[in-house]
Amino acid sequence: MRILFCSSEVAPYAKTGGLADVSAALPVELRSLGAGCDVVMPLYRSVKKSRLELKHVTNISFLSGQGISRARVFSHGSVYFIENDLYFNRDGYYSYKGRDFPDNLERYAFFSRACVELAAALGDTDIIHCNDWQTALVPAYIHALGMTGISVCYTIHNLAYQGIFDSALWPLLFLPYEYFHPDIMEYYGSINILKAGVVFSDAVTTVSPSYALEIQTPEFGAGLDGFLRSFSRKLTGIVNGIDTRVWDPLNDGSIAHSFSAEDLSGKAVCKRDLQQRLSLKKNDGPLFGLIGRLVDQKGIDLVISIMDDIIALGAQVAVLGSGDSRYEQDLRSLSARHKGNLGVVIGFDEDLAHSIEAGADFFLMPSRFEPCGLNQMISMRYGTLPIVTRVGGLKDTVTALGEGENPTGLRVERPTPSDLLDAVRRACMLFHEQKALFSVIRRNAMQKDVGWRSSAIQYYSLYTKMINFRERKR
Ligand code: ADP
Repeated sequence: MRILFCSSEVAPYAKTGGLADVSAALPVELRSLGAGCDVVMPLYRSVKKSRLELKHVTNISFLSGQGISRARVFSHGSVYFIENDLYFNRDGYYSYKGRDFPDNLERYAFFSRACVELAAALGDTDIIHCNDWQTALVPAYIHALGMTGISVCYTIHNLAYQGIFDSALWPLLFLPYEYFHPDIMEYYGSINILKAGVVFSDAVTTVSPSYALEIQTPEFGAGLDGFLRSFSRKLTGIVNGIDTRVWDPLNDGSIAHSFSAEDLSGKAVCKRDLQQRLSLKKNDGPLFGLIGRLVDQKGIDLVISIMDDIIALGAQVAVLGSGDSRYEQDLRSLSARHKGNLGVVIGFDEDLAHSIEAGADFFLMPSRFEPCGLNQMISMRYGTLPIVTRVGGLKDTVTALGEGENPTGLRVERPTPSDLLDAVRRACMLFHEQKALFSVIRRNAMQKDVGWRSSAIQYYSLYTKMINFRERKR
């Protein structure tokens, strides 16, 4: 079985969020199951600057809305890079200084079409696995070109980002005009790229079983619940894992001291180190960590609104993230007010992310919706108890105290400031007064299987079904 995994970001080459982690780890696990799996991504400026030794593989050209489009293809190990300097040799991946690039449709239509061309050049691809709106046009091109020998799996990592563009840009796509229809790619007069991924793929997955059900409801469907219900027969949820070699407290070059469930003394060293890095007082109260995109989805506003109360409980907070400028601003003001107890770093910092996961006692993740979420799994692996809402992947991956056997975290009943504060109070009580229980939950969390193996097996069997179905149709 040969798979071509198409993604707009792949760690460590380019990362803005969980998609990059998935695109790095899942292919490795699929290979360990015996599949051939190559990955393809754009050749961004950050990769060019990193001076990696890239091998020139081939050149491709195709007819597009711009006339003839051309790209050089390079490789590094099993990752292919599509080069087009006009589109990808710039600072930022999808946006710059908080503003989306105005030519994103053209950029990712080009990349998607180039992925299809690469599959054709490789000649032996059975499955193309594409991800999110940036590569959702891949199955549309496969369909338009009549390439019946390749099956397409499409994964929705976050329904909030659908790739909606003005219909005047349609000619750039170079797709049959019939596709601009409400049942296919039209969405209230605009172009909706994600819809193409759902309509033209042979299988659609999303990144947790709960999210697969949620997105078919008006509350979580982001305007597409009815549309998704009509495709429910090909929609499944497969939970993400984390790369347990990158996130391994016993073997992590970015943290002050290694530790394990058996010997947690190193975690105390990591906590001191984190306090020092963020200029926090060396106190022994609970330390809450938060890493992520500072957007409504993640419930950042809820954390901001109870920050004074958290600090008043004698706790400390370490925040790393970037996103909406109002939240960045609020957090900066709060950190000035709570010097020594609140550390805020605005930006993207892999090293600090590891330090926070290792040094904190609890991890705040009060998301309003969460397709899967990786941070709660990373936290569990580092013995940092996740405090999570009951949505999507948070529901599927964290057993909260009081909700089942072997709890691994704490639940926030609803995404409201008061429920979040209740959960924080519960955490403080656990930390100060129920030390034995705290240790048990921490051990459960660290022993929980958060790796990719079982999910990769599910993808493998899905691909097998897709191939068998295609063969039968022949
Ligand atoms: P998302 O919705 O952003 O994909 P996930 O929890 O699935 O959220 O994955 C986020 C990934 O990105 C994690 O590996 C997390 O550590 C990382 N991350 C997010 N923000 C930052 C940041 N500011 N600095 C470093 N890593 C970050």
